[in-house]
Amino acid sequence: MKLSQSFVKTIKTTPGDEVSESAKLLLRAGYIYKEMAGVYDYLPLGMRTLENIIQVIREEMNALGGQELRMTSLQPRDNWEASGRWSDDVMDVWFKTKLNAGGEVGLGATHEEPLTHLMKTYISSYKDLPVYAYQFQTKFRNELRAKSGIMRTREFMMKDLYSFSKDREEHEKFYEKCAESYKKIFNRLGIGNDTFRTFASGGAFSKYSDEFQTLCEVGEDIIYLDREKGIAVNEEVYNDEVLADLGLDKSKLEQCKAAEVGNIFTLGYRFSDALDLTYNDADGKRQKVFMGSYGIGPSRVMGVIAEKLSDEHGLVWPEEIAPYKYYLIGIGEQGERVANELHDKAPEDVILDDRKNARNGEKFADADLMGIPYRVVVSDKTLAENKVELKNRVTGETKLLTLAEFQNKLA
Ligand code: ATP
Ligand code: MG
Repeated sequence: MKLSQSFVKTIKTTPGDEVSESAKLLLRAGYIYKEMAGVYDYLPLGMRTLENIIQVIREEMNALGGQELRMTSLQPRDNWEASGRWSDDVMDVWFKTKLNAGGEVGLGATHEEPLTHLMKTYISSYKDLPVYAYQFQTKFRNELRAKSGIMRTREFMMKDLYSFSKDREEHEKFYEKCAESYKKIFNRLGIGNDTFRTFASGGAFSKYSDEFQTLCEVGEDIIYLDREKGIAVNEEVYNDEVLADLGLDKSKLEQCKAAEVGNIFTLGYRFSDALDLTYNDADGKRQKVFMGSYGIGPSRVMGVIAEKLSDEHGLVWPEEIAPYKYYLIGIGEQGERVANELHDKAPEDVILDDRKNARNGEKFADADLMGIPYRVVVSDKTLAENKVELKNRVTGETKLLTLAEFQNKLA
């Protein structure tokens, strides 16, 4: 990527109503553009970052045996009538719209109903189970208050996986495997140390659901954390009875602010009952499918990472999700020529700051603001020793590499 050709530019001022640090930085660094409160565009850098987060999650979901699909945002009313969730009194975040051809549709806020309905076509025997299906899909929710930039929006990316199992036992095994997989995901995304499995309210089929909560000052949830055990309790279920049930000691719990980055839930027969999803067991008897749902919000996760890892100079991305790995600046005639050549070797890894109208100081500042893991400077001075200077965004350490060493990194 060559900055001289990028339509996006870093900006100095941000909309006045933006309070969270992550939103300000993402706007200034040119990752997102604000359409209106709670609705953001992902610009090229933002989109690459979001896609990298998605890819980490995708790899782990595939490792669990997940099969990826993509469902529609436009939702026919019938499935939701069947489950009793069409009414705004039951689900208050619906966006709904009328069809010119007649009838009403909803914009999907979640996908239990349509996927359960879809599975009726494919699941009929115990041999068809279990099934783990997931998607990355834009969800629409008419949230009363949008907050903290991309952390709570009215249109956002969700990974939602749904499990279809023969019975509770099969379900519970998968549920635990998925919880383990979530830990791996948040580790890979660089927020593992501060993300805790948190007991939250369950439904008719389980006492608790499990949230994955990341400690974060602008988070909207309060959790009570046992650091030693590495688990927490959401304030919504925090009481003496629950603590006793979980074997937690009140005096050891820390009250913390946190953001929910993921959520896993035992649905049981809630939707298979409502939409009549059944299978024939080995004895030919009709059984209901036992279900679970497993969400992660990649766009909220991106906001949380920006919020937590950034510093006074700007964003900081872990290498695995940074939109590019190197931010390359050529100084002087020779330096510019070599920088150009290096960029062309690996344009997918390198942002080349070849702007004619920016001073070197501005380029250095933008490298920091964008949070690219390594800033690389090639100048006539470094070239005199046949070297380039590499600066680590996190530690601030600089070192000199020979041109050949750096070329090998790019290869
Ligand atoms: P919250 O309690 O924060 O409103 P939720 O419990 O309604 O979230 P789920 O339905 O469990 O959310 O959605 C799964 C995941 O989607 C959440 O864990 C979160 O990461 C993400 N998410 C939910 N709502 C939003 C939103 N408005 N903006 C961005 N991400 C969201
Ligand atoms: Mg939730």
